[in-house]
Amino acid sequence: QVRVRFAPSPTGYLHVGGARTALFNYLYARSKGGKFILRIEDTDLERSTKESEEAVLRDLSWLGLSWDEGPGIGGDYGPYRQSERNDLYKQYAEKLLQSGQVYRCFCSNEACELEQMKEIAKEKQLPPVYSGKWATATDEEIQEELAKGTPCTYRFRVPKEGSLTINDLIRGEVSWNLDTLGDFVVMRSNGQPVYNFCVTVDDATMAITHVIRAEEHLPNTLRQALIYKALGFPMPSFAHVSLILAPDRSKLSKRHGATSVGQFREMGYLPQAIVNYLALLGWSDGTNDEFFTLEQMVEKFSIERVNKSGAIFDSVKLRWMNGQHLKALPTDELLKTIGEQWRCAGILNESEGLFVEDAFKLLEGGIDVITDAEKLLSDLLSYPFHATLSSSDGREILEDGLPVVAESLLAAYDNGELLGALEEGKSGWQKWVKAFGKSLKRKGKSLFMPLRVLLTGKLHGPDMGESIVLIYRAGTSGIVTPQVG
Ligand code: GLU
Repeated sequence: QVRVRFAPSPTGYLHVGGARTALFNYLYARSKGGKFILRIEDTDLERSTKESEEAVLRDLSWLGLSWDEGPGIGGDYGPYRQSERNDLYKQYAEKLLQSGQVYRCFCSNEACELEQMKEIAKEKQLPPVYSGKWATATDEEIQEELAKGTPCTYRFRVPKEGSLTINDLIRGEVSWNLDTLGDFVVMRSNGQPVYNFCVTVDDATMAITHVIRAEEHLPNTLRQALIYKALGFPMPSFAHVSLILAPDRSKLSKRHGATSVGQFREMGYLPQAIVNYLALLGWSDGTNDEFFTLEQMVEKFSIERVNKSGAIFDSVKLRWMNGQHLKALPTDELLKTIGEQWRCAGILNESEGLFVEDAFKLLEGGIDVITDAEKLLSDLLSYPFHATLSSSDGREILEDGLPVVAESLLAAYDNGELLGALEEGKSGWQKWVKAFGKSLKRKGKSLFMPLRVLLTGKLHGPDMGESIVLIYRAGTSGIVTPQVG
């Protein structure tokens, strides 16, 4: 039976990369009728937090990626938190010590690393390779140190020649030469097992058949595979999924905008759109189809169709994808959600009724993310034409000022005068508007109100010169993000 796992370290939020790894594991398990296991890798006690663990579990549940075994729900292979499995790691470390596949090393850590590095450098030109001082120590030498109470690490005895090859389900054959590895520590002198040892013992004892994880773990696979062999467990299949890249092909990070699942939830994205979009970062069903529900993906998923090149995270496409999933929702459900949103945002004081229905019908087409609805409706209602047309101020401006000012403004726009002035910023604007008023023999309200209406579409607002310069800059500098601007 297929058994896969998602093994987050609870040191932060669930980001899109982690969510995609979880998704591929989920899809693989469900498509094979296997089990999807969740394991919390909290060996780094300083950086792991309960809050982070809770947030990761919440986000996975929200995405609909339900697990069969894991913290909270248990299972036959628990516990499912590494911090609760220390005895097991020790037990297996002792087993390897008994069989001679690890040995006690009494060098202070530092000395060992130094020696090792020196040896590795040397060995690049000429094998034979590093063999730790304690790899060949006699029983007496060891007993002597033990009697003195010298702290020791457990080092893994790496074969000094040959290579190791795995057949990665995504990347094909991956090989490593063993002569550059050197004997590595599996248990520190304080009794703490190292990360790679924990992962291997866990995967082996949890009977994991397929390890699907991010490409960045590929270098760990060499050590893990050696430990697997030493423990005598059957090796799982490995599948290393490529990185998610930013549009500039650098590693996707916070500076590229929202990257955590929680942020997208808060922004009003739908979980089904996020999993659909994440699946497409590396996977396709072989056709041009892009819209899939989670169930459809389970039906069509195959690990062989996961691409080994990096996928670019495109937030505009994710937004579009969200729009597709919104449109697929039953209309009354969507209407209810949007009505609620208008009420919560304080735009309307009721969330249902004819007004809500008509506003929904009018604006629906422009909504990709549910929160768009808020801006669309408030924009629509932001010009109180009734108040303007019925007030004496408003009438005066429109009847008397608007046609005259509009005519001259168009001329100043056409001959480039207005844009030239705006190019110079606020002082340019001030100079221009003064001359403009003079030529029309208008000043104060009778000049500024019609100008404001013509240039901002509103009767009132913040300082007009500053506003217009800012609007002009927004249009020319590319600073406004397309989805907002
Ligand atoms: N805990 C690791 C991480 O969060 C995953 C390790 C693994 O999948 O083997 O990146």
